[in-house]
Amino acid sequence: MKHLSIFGATGSIGQSTLDLVRRNKELYSVEVLTGGRNLDRLVDNALEFRPKIVVTAYEDTYQELKERLSGTGIEVGSGVNGINDSASLPVDWAMSAIVGAAGLEPGLRAMQSGADLALANKESMVAAGPLMRQTSFENDVALLPVDSEHSAVFQALIGEDRKAIERVILTASGGAFRDWSLAEITAATPEQAATHPNWDMGQRITIDSASMFNKALEVIEAKELFNLSASQIEVVVHPQSMLHALVGFQDGGLMAHIGPADMRHAIGFALNYPNRSYLPVERLDLVKIGRFDFSAPDLVKYPALRLAYDVLELGGFSGAVYNSAKEIALDAFIAQRIGFLDMAKVVEAVLERVFIKSMSKENIFCLENVLNMDHTGRIYAKEEIEKKF
Ligand code: NDP
Repeated sequence: MKHLSIFGATGSIGQSTLDLVRRNKELYSVEVLTGGRNLDRLVDNALEFRPKIVVTAYEDTYQELKERLSGTGIEVGSGVNGINDSASLPVDWAMSAIVGAAGLEPGLRAMQSGADLALANKESMVAAGPLMRQTSFENDVALLPVDSEHSAVFQALIGEDRKAIERVILTASGGAFRDWSLAEITAATPEQAATHPNWDMGQRITIDSASMFNKALEVIEAKELFNLSASQIEVVVHPQSMLHALVGFQDGGLMAHIGPADMRHAIGFALNYPNRSYLPVERLDLVKIGRFDFSAPDLVKYPALRLAYDVLELGGFSGAVYNSAKEIALDAFIAQRIGFLDMAKVVEAVLERVFIKSMSKENIFCLENVLNMDHTGRIYAKEEIEKKF
């Protein structure tokens, strides 16, 4: 029996993970579930899966959670410390599906406690890739990508010599505004941005898909996961979202991974790794689909992507700053304080201000340094928003 922890259980990835676990309950024992504000879902899942520990991210929901689970024998925790402590419970496999940089510490703790880490939380890799890789190596645990593109690359690399990789091509759907003009995008509202043409995901990642901040984070994540240089990572727009990524090798061959737009494939691959087992996802009918389209991303419409390549060149803590400034800019867009394209302007201004090159000499393997730079990015982003908007 595989013992599991699921961080961010109440979200889109967390629920898809539980859906797979539910179908094979005899194979798994859920030990930890964490959530945030969605107490109804957290309580329902706790009563169904009977974990040892359930944690809400917010102190103000602790009392209600405790009352609703009283008499069940389930330990209840809250806050950042509650989540981090729950991540120290030894399990075999942990799903990192908290949204944002808040997912970093639980993922690190889970690996330190011996769990293979299924990594949906791309922000961990963007902010602290070297530290994540080192922690996985030192604790002899697997770091299993769950982002569909990175799972695709990971799968295409099985049995291959990594030194033979020439390039990696990540596909992007183009998000909600793929066919919109620059003028229309400039005036886009949070509601419009939160509608994805192909994928059913959480609100924040859906808006990040429309701005391509999501793809930008994935470019940085790919560099960190597969040890690539900026010139080895390409992005192409592929509206059908079925060909998730390709790996190009030295002999000119391309290995592609094709599958339905259903995160349960990548989650299930990570859950069953190193084996492949049946997954309840759609089987693609290629004749019915008929065609796959590709085009180059428009960097004027998607400035976030251009900035990601700056981050690849800068290295050091620039990923941590990029991500945290983006999180604040996204909050401001959702609150309708700034416009859609202003998000990238805020991030660019913060990156310029931080003089990352001079800071990159500090130890990038130190969590405290990463958190300090994450914090700096947040403060500067708030100041930029205050100053300019
Ligand atoms: P959701 O917004 O649907 O879920 C996020 C989860 O994190 C929820 O359980 C939420 O709790 C919890 N949460 C929110 N804020 C905090 C916090 N400060 N501390 C602790 N927990 C918190 O996100 P997704 O499931 O869509 O995405 C999760 C991660 O996976 C993200 O990093 C995303 O980029 C990545 N990802 C998602 C994909 C998708 O298809 N959805 C695809 C690939 C990657 P609650 O809802 O109860 O408040």
